[in-house]
Amino acid sequence: MTMTDSSNDHAGLRQAEAESFEGSIRSAGLKVTAPRLAVLRALTDMPHSNADALFGAVRAGLPGTSLQAVYGVLGSFTTAGLVRRIEPAGSPALFERRVGDNHHHIVCTRCNVVHDVDCAVGHAPCLTPSDALGFDVRAAEVIYWGLCAQCQLDTASQLDTASQLDTATP
Ligand SMILES: [Zn+2]
Ligand SMILES: [Zn+2]
Repeated sequence: MTMTDSSNDHAGLRQAEAESFEGSIRSAGLKVTAPRLAVLRALTDMPHSNADALFGAVRAGLPGTSLQAVYGVLGSFTTAGLVRRIEPAGSPALFERRVGDNHHHIVCTRCNVVHDVDCAVGHAPCLTPSDALGFDVRAAEVIYWGLCAQCQLDTASQLDTASQLDTATP
């Protein structure tokens, strides 16, 4: 596909985006560095990514970056509350920029795709424990497991052809 629209508009958009990334990093109390900007940009494009995937995206624009540096950036972002870290069972840690709203996740047990699920009642914690044991409960994190729509189609067609069903479990 050929882009025929004004490249000036596009450059202006990238500029505004870069400034908003810098603003986010600064308001989290962190110094703006090239790896931090690159990781934040990658996370914006690919939510629920692990460090390896983010490293792959960052390396394209910053060839000198190491996986270790990406882990370092993710650690400081998580500590500063700029990104949220989720760890579905059997998966490496995944990171996302959507923070502070106590949303949940739904994970496909077959292809591992992850999607956001809004809080059931719109505020944290959306699930009240039967006994909070004296805790001041601030958040409840739920992971729903199941087969995504595409995997349901795939497994249905596999059953049709009577081939072996992949029974991956979390
Ligand atoms: Zn799936
Ligand atoms: Zn999420």
